[in-house]
Amino acid sequence: MRTVHAYAAPSATEPLVPTTIERRDVGPSDVLIEIRYAGVCHSDIHTVRGDWGPIAYPQVVGHEIVGEVVEVGAEVTKHAVGDRVGVGCMVNSCRECENCKAGMENYCLKGNTQTYAARDRDGSITQGGYSTHIVVDEDFVLKVPAEIPYEAAAPLLCAGITTYSPLAHWNAGPGKKVAVVGLGGLGHMAVKIAAAMGAEVTVLSQTLSKRDDGLSFGATDYHATSDDATWRELRNRFDLIINTVSAPIDMRKYLSLLALDGTFVSVGAPPEPLPVHVFTLFGNRRSFAGSSIGSIGETQEMLDFCAEHGIAPEIELISADQINDAYERVLSSDVRYRFVIDTATLAG
Ligand SMILES: [Zn+2]
Ligand SMILES: [Zn+2]
Repeated sequence: MRTVHAYAAPSATEPLVPTTIERRDVGPSDVLIEIRYAGVCHSDIHTVRGDWGPIAYPQVVGHEIVGEVVEVGAEVTKHAVGDRVGVGCMVNSCRECENCKAGMENYCLKGNTQTYAARDRDGSITQGGYSTHIVVDEDFVLKVPAEIPYEAAAPLLCAGITTYSPLAHWNAGPGKKVAVVGLGGLGHMAVKIAAAMGAEVTVLSQTLSKRDDGLSFGATDYHATSDDATWRELRNRFDLIINTVSAPIDMRKYLSLLALDGTFVSVGAPPEPLPVHVFTLFGNRRSFAGSSIGSIGETQEMLDFCAEHGIAPEIELISADQINDAYERVLSSDVRYRFVIDTATLAG
């Protein structure tokens, strides 16, 4: 075991505090990563505050991790000391089910092992990326191309793949009209990636306050959902709508914006069901779908795509003592567009 610095939630209601945690010894197929940067995802906050159910404390969160390989197990072949690597939302899966065998570990039928707050194979609870080091099986470690700025690479491991996967699956590209609902951490990556894929991108946001940003990320159109004219003007328009908003929305209105065979995909997770009137699906043979992160293979594909197209998240770099303030700002949507922790400050 190895004791490493971390920031942990002591309970659902207290601020995160500096602490130390134990990391397992490097096994034959493990990689020890010295974490350099860790993104702050909204899921981190939901998890530590118990919004998605009770968890064990203290808990370290963070599933947007980049760093350097500093030690490898005897049987490791994919990574070497000195490599720049990343870890996202999962650190293992059953590897035996139909979906795992198909290379879709994110849809493991037994449930993949999440990077934090999950029961690991050894029975311990996984601890995430707000720490100086992590030990991960080599199969769940990604290569982060040098073209992507180090500190900006971290959010690709959750926000990047969560939006890339549905865009790729539903064939966003030249000739396709894509709408992105919400311009936050996920939404701004969806805009950049969809535009790089060659799609025509429209942002649907409550107000026009981030319009200049949206257009600079590659959108060609930007509409306020608070304006009734938006719904009339954009009716039957889109081949694909990516919803990144986790608040309740009026599905009838959004589905009415889909063109023939269009699909509405939610990557945002509203806590309550979203009621759908089936008649709205009959028109234009519309589909309502969901998507959850991406496989390891697809995550590598996304990283390589971002390197090739010069895409990186917009970030605000923070030190460890700013994490609690950052949480409050995430909750009030006051971040452009992702906080990233400089993990060198965790030891301070
Ligand atoms: Zn996340
Ligand atoms: Zn499986």
